[in-house]
Amino acid sequence: MQRFYSYNQYMREKFGCKMYKLSLSISNTCPNRDGTKGAGGCIFCSEGGSGDFAAAYCKSITEQIEDAKKLVSRKNRGGKYIAYFQSFTSTYIAPQKLRDALNEVLKDKDICAVSIATRADCLGDEILAVLSEFSYKIPITVEMGLQTIHDKTARLINRCCDLNEYEASLEKLKALGIEVVYHIIAGLPFETEEEFLETVRYVGKSGADGIKIQLLHILKGTELEKMFNRGEFKVFSKEEYFTLVAKALEILPPDMVIHRLTGDGAKKILIAPLWSADKKDVLNSLNRYLEENDILQGKKISDAL
Ligand code: SF4
Repeated sequence: MQRFYSYNQYMREKFGCKMYKLSLSISNTCPNRDGTKGAGGCIFCSEGGSGDFAAAYCKSITEQIEDAKKLVSRKNRGGKYIAYFQSFTSTYIAPQKLRDALNEVLKDKDICAVSIATRADCLGDEILAVLSEFSYKIPITVEMGLQTIHDKTARLINRCCDLNEYEASLEKLKALGIEVVYHIIAGLPFETEEEFLETVRYVGKSGADGIKIQLLHILKGTELEKMFNRGEFKVFSKEEYFTLVAKALEILPPDMVIHRLTGDGAKKILIAPLWSADKKDVLNSLNRYLEENDILQGKKISDAL
């Protein structure tokens, strides 16, 4: 049976209204940039640490929340908010800093949930204790950047984090009742379609609650851009990507929440694929493609993600 359980649908069921993400910044580095695990970062990651929409790191969390609310105010029709700690590695900070940030979030009664993007190797006992403490006050989701299950690709992209670290962190988070989302990338250099679908299969069976499928973006100033300019690999066409997304949706279990099916890179530094810059067009085209292939069963992806 074909199926699709969108993040929007999941959040509406949970909170009874549309939820908007407020992109916030609590960290300005990661162990892959400061030499702890690696240097130079993952080859696809931009200077902004995969959070180019995040409010300025130097501002307080309360100020960032106000700024981010202004950004979504035009489209917000009575919805509530998710505080989304997006940029760099949001748990690569002192536990007290995370506690202070979450206390600031709790002061805003329109924020109903927290989402934290991080690495599997940045979830030590003290950080987990803070997450556990606050998970009794507000629903928390932890998003881990897995990207791929294949060691050769993990080495190529300079992830510097082993698959068993993801598995250990997922187990600990789930034991604390915290939801886990895996972020994976479609179109990584030299990965075959079957290798990507193996990653999808793995996530589907991992015990994670949700998945974000990100189309590989080539961003200005990255190592990936240099490889791309040397002609070492190609990016997906729209049709190739849609075909792959349809196959991934067929594989995933029906109760897995689909958080994202497109990229979300900053347009001003996007090198390729340029068709992905028009998010509305991509969502509409993907919607049509999935409808034609009976993946959506009457639901609209543009409402969903
Ligand atoms: S993707 Fe995450 S771990 Fe990799 S360099 Fe960027 S911020 Fe660091």
